[in-house]
Amino acid sequence: MCLDIWRHKKKVLPLLLLMAIGSIIYYLYTLKLERERDESATSTTSRLERDIRDLQAVFESEVIPDLGALGRPARGNWTEEQLEAIAKSQRETGYNAWLSKRISPERSLYDMRHRSCKKLKYPLEKLPSVSVVITYHNEEASVLLRTLSSLRSRTPIQLLREVILVDDGSTQVDEKLNDFIKIKFLNMVQHRRITTQVGLMHARVVGSELALADVLVFLDSHVEVTKGWLEPLIAPILEDNRTCTTPIIDTIDFDNFAYRRGKPSRGFFNWEFNYIQLPLLKEEAVAMPAPHKNPIMNGGLFAIGREWFSELGGYDKGLKIWGAEQFELSLKLWLCGGQILEVPCSRVGHLFRDGNFQVRYTNKDKNSEKKLISRNYRRVAEIWLDEYKDKLFANMPHLTVIPVGNLAEQRALKNRLHCKPFKWFLDNLATDFLHLYPILDPAEYASGVLQSIASPKLCLDRKDPSHGQPKLAPCSSDHVFPSPQQYWSLTNHRELRSGFYCLEVRNHGVNVHIYQCHGQSGNQFWSFDSKTHQVISGQQQNSRHCLEAQPELNAVTSSVCDPKNHKQQWKFGYLNSQ
Ligand code: UDP
Ligand code: MN
Repeated sequence: MCLDIWRHKKKVLPLLLLMAIGSIIYYLYTLKLERERDESATSTTSRLERDIRDLQAVFESEVIPDLGALGRPARGNWTEEQLEAIAKSQRETGYNAWLSKRISPERSLYDMRHRSCKKLKYPLEKLPSVSVVITYHNEEASVLLRTLSSLRSRTPIQLLREVILVDDGSTQVDEKLNDFIKIKFLNMVQHRRITTQVGLMHARVVGSELALADVLVFLDSHVEVTKGWLEPLIAPILEDNRTCTTPIIDTIDFDNFAYRRGKPSRGFFNWEFNYIQLPLLKEEAVAMPAPHKNPIMNGGLFAIGREWFSELGGYDKGLKIWGAEQFELSLKLWLCGGQILEVPCSRVGHLFRDGNFQVRYTNKDKNSEKKLISRNYRRVAEIWLDEYKDKLFANMPHLTVIPVGNLAEQRALKNRLHCKPFKWFLDNLATDFLHLYPILDPAEYASGVLQSIASPKLCLDRKDPSHGQPKLAPCSSDHVFPSPQQYWSLTNHRELRSGFYCLEVRNHGVNVHIYQCHGQSGNQFWSFDSKTHQVISGQQQNSRHCLEAQPELNAVTSSVCDPKNHKQQWKFGYLNSQ
C-alpha cells in the first residue's frame, strides 16, 4: 500500500496541494460570510454609533446638558414648549436657531481632511495674507458668532489681515455682536452697515473695495471653517493670480447642527439654471486630494486675488439681491482668462437651510423676489450663454419677457477682456455634461396664459377642482407668473395641457371640457395659429373648431372657425409685466 502511494506520488501530491488550497479558500470564504452577517446585524447600531460620534463632535462644548442620547432633537426628549420654540425658529430662519443659541460658538469639530492633507506644509511667510469678506442680512446672531469664532480660532493669525463684515440692511440688529467682535478680534474687524439692503452681490463688492490684503476670501454668514482650511485655499493663487479657489463645502445640518462631510464635486448648472454637481473626472478622482477644475462655483465661499476680482468688475452691478451671481462670476472667470479650482484639503461647513424654507429677502413679496431672480438669470444668459441661451429660454420661457435692463457695461467688459464664447466652456470643461444633460428640443411649443383678445382682462382658466367645463376668469394680476389654473402649454403631442389636465371638445366640437390627458389626440388635439390668433381643435380640415370666448357668461365654447370673429382670437404666452 505504502509502496503504492509512493509509486503514485507524482499524482497524489498535486491532489493534496489542491485540497489544501481549496480548504484555505473555503475557510476564508466562511470568514467573509460571517463578517458580512455581523455587519448586517449591527448596521443599524453602527449607524447609530456613527451618528453619536458625529453629534458628539458637534456638541462637545454644548450648552444644554440634556440633549438626549444623540444630542440631537431626539424629538421625544423635548418638552412641548421647547418643540414649539424650535418649530417657530425654523419657520422664521429655515434652521433650528433655537438650538444654535444653545451650542457654543467655540464648539470643536472633527478634522475631516484626507490623511495626506494633514502632512502638507505651507511656508506661512510665503503665503499672502487675506481679507475675509462676510456679508449678512438678518443672520441669526449665534450663527454669525459661530462663523466668526471658527474663523478666529482656526486661521493662522499671520494670514488673517482683517475681517470685513458688511451688514446688508438687516432689520434686526443684535448688540451682542459688536461686544463679541471687540473681545475676540480686537481691531481686526471692520464692521460696515449698509442702511438699506442692496443685495449680496453689491454688498460683497462694497466689502471688497474696503479690503487691504492682496487676496479676498468671501464667506457666507452661516459657515464654520475647519482646521487647516486657509493655507491650501490660497496656495494656488500664489502660483497663478488669476486662479479662484473654492473649498469642499461640508454640511451643517439645519435641524441639529451636526457637521457632515461633503463630497468633492464639479459644479455646473442645468438648462433651468439649477446648480448641479457633476462627479469628478476619472483622472481627477485618482489624483485626489489634489485641486481639480471646478466649472461653476457654488457661490458663497471662494478665494480670489483682489486685483483680479476688480479687473473682472466684481459682480455685474445689474444683478440684484440674490441669485445667478455664482453663474455670472464663474463664467466670467473661465471665459475671460482665469480658472476655478476646488481644493479638497480645504473644508468649510455651510448651513444649508431647510429645503422647504422659502428664502425671502425682499419685503416678504414672493413674486417680486421671483422677478428679481428671473431678471438676474436673464442678464447672465444674455451676456454669457451666446446662442445657448435659447436652450435655457426653451425651459424658462418667462425669462424672455422679463425686462433685462442695460447690458452695455457688461458687453463692454466682455470685449475689453477678450472673453471666449460659451461653447469653449462646454467643450473644455464639461464634455460629460452634455451626455448627462443633453440639449433637448423644447418640450413645449407654446406656453403661458391664453388671454382673450376680445376681452383682454379675461384668461382661459381650468378652474379648481379641475373638472367639467373651463371658464373665463380675470387674468392673474402678475402675468409673468400665471396662476397654475391659467398656465397652459401646447405640447409636442399637441395637447393643450394645464397641470395633469387637458382641454378637449365634446358634442361634435361644440362644448369644451377639461379632462385627464388621454394621449390619443382625437378630441384633445389642438393647434395655435399665430397669424389669426386662433386656438384650433381637431386634425381634419373639415372638422376643425375654434376656441371662443363668451365673456358675458364667463365661459368658453368652440364653434366653426371664423378668422374675423374677435371672440376666437387669443394671445398665447407670457405678457410683459408692467
Ligand atoms: N445676503 C446679503 N444680502 C442679501 C441676501 C443675502 O448680504 O440681500 C447674504 C446672506 O446673509 C448670506 C450670503 O449673502 O451670508 C449668501 O446668501 P444665502 O446664504 O441666502 O445664499 P445660499 O447660501 O442660500 O445660496
Ligand atoms: Mn448660504
